[in-house]
Amino acid sequence: MLLPQGLIRFKLLVLEMLNKDSTIRDEKPRLVIDMDEVIADTLHKFLVLYNRDYGIAMDIHQAPGKELHENLPENLNGQWKIYAHEKGFFKDIPPMPGAIKTVKQLQTRYNVYIVSAATEFRNSLEDKLDWLAHHFPFIPWTNIAFTGDKIVAADIMIDDRIKNLAHFSGRRLLFSSPHNLLITGYERVNNWQEVAELLL
Ligand SMILES: [Mg+2]
Repeated sequence: MLLPQGLIRFKLLVLEMLNKDSTIRDEKPRLVIDMDEVIADTLHKFLVLYNRDYGIAMDIHQAPGKELHENLPENLNGQWKIYAHEKGFFKDIPPMPGAIKTVKQLQTRYNVYIVSAATEFRNSLEDKLDWLAHHFPFIPWTNIAFTGDKIVAADIMIDDRIKNLAHFSGRRLLFSSPHNLLITGYERVNNWQEVAELLL
């Protein structure tokens, strides 16, 4: 049967709308995950270097609510930035316990993005890309974003810095780190086991 052009166009339009709709329905929620002190134990790397260069104890008491360098002698206050600028600093950081396994599992239910404020340290861009390829090879390049301010549209964000969470409109999970232990008013996760229990 021959259909008038107008009807054909209408049918095509409806089909297009249905396709679009099903694409949206099938899309998994977007989950944004930070790197430093969330999937990467960056504090440990700093301590290794402070220990090597200044004999700082690896198990130095980290006062809740303070940055690592605020627990160190005053003359070392700016040293962390010098370390962070060095090429290779971000390359051999140990992953956080349970992070690899849990992120892999989360991929089945979420569209996982790794979003890191990396542009402050120019060498970190290459280091972090290499680090992710080594430890998280299952994260495609399309789902890695290196940025300054984290202006992102997603459903859930896991981060240890409230400067990144504060303006995020989705569900905000504060990943515990010594520097944020006094912060209240956020949904908190203390480790990757807790993330798994909450989101899987
Ligand atoms: Mg972080």
